[in-house]
Amino acid sequence: MSNSFISSITPPTAGEIACFFIFRERHILLDRDQIPQLHMVEEIGLTAVRQQYLGHRNATHYYAAEVAADTIPPAGMTFHKLRGTLTQLPEFQFWMAGRAVQVLEWDKNHQFCGRCGAIMKDVGYERAKKCPDCGLFNYPRISPAMIVQVTKDGANGREILLARSHRHPPNLFSVLAGFVEPGETLEECVAREIREEVGFSVKNIRYFGSQPWPFPNSLMVAFTAEHDKGEIELNTDEMAAADWFTADNFPIIPPLPTISRQLIDDFVENE
Ligand SMILES: [Zn+2]
Repeated sequence: MSNSFISSITPPTAGEIACFFIFRERHILLDRDQIPQLHMVEEIGLTAVRQQYLGHRNATHYYAAEVAADTIPPAGMTFHKLRGTLTQLPEFQFWMAGRAVQVLEWDKNHQFCGRCGAIMKDVGYERAKKCPDCGLFNYPRISPAMIVQVTKDGANGREILLARSHRHPPNLFSVLAGFVEPGETLEECVAREIREEVGFSVKNIRYFGSQPWPFPNSLMVAFTAEHDKGEIELNTDEMAAADWFTADNFPIIPPLPTISRQLIDDFVENE
């Protein structure tokens, strides 16, 4: 996400033209492959069932809006699966769309207090809801997950661990990833996931970078690590395959700008 984006819940007072991320469930409305530029969703004949102001970057304002599941797109416009727009939209707009859909889903899924069932109220000064009866707060939730580049010295040079889970398309291999458990540090998560999925230990765990991943609400925290002890012992409940690869012998790998690809490219560059 660009540093120049200013997150805010307070829209501009004048009805300025803005980028509207309009979702029908998890499908985003595009106007000939572009994010619609509008004053309000009603001007293209749509009705928003919920809307959230996201903030601005320079003079451009951004809104998230949800329309009903049976909404027919306006002429010339189409709803697209968000994931499919990853390599189609400009990168900043894709990450903004991911922010938009997560804010909308949070708003939709937290209309009632999870503790007492009362109708939640927006607190008004930040993106949060509070129960007027029992005082429970609710903020947009993200689920941290670690993702890791594991390397070692092999017979033919430096090697990287690439694996395929059962939910990946055939032949697509990537680095390992997994959700952080309550009470666990990120580094503990890295070591645990590798132990659970491929059965060996790692050392020299170092931070690499992070990336929001809106499927559905992850924050991917990326690390590099080196193989320490043990051979690959595949957990076949979770993983379909895992192996060591040299940079000249790769299977199909994820596209940029995913952080998994950034980790793999980093290995290739340091090879
Ligand atoms: Zn409550």
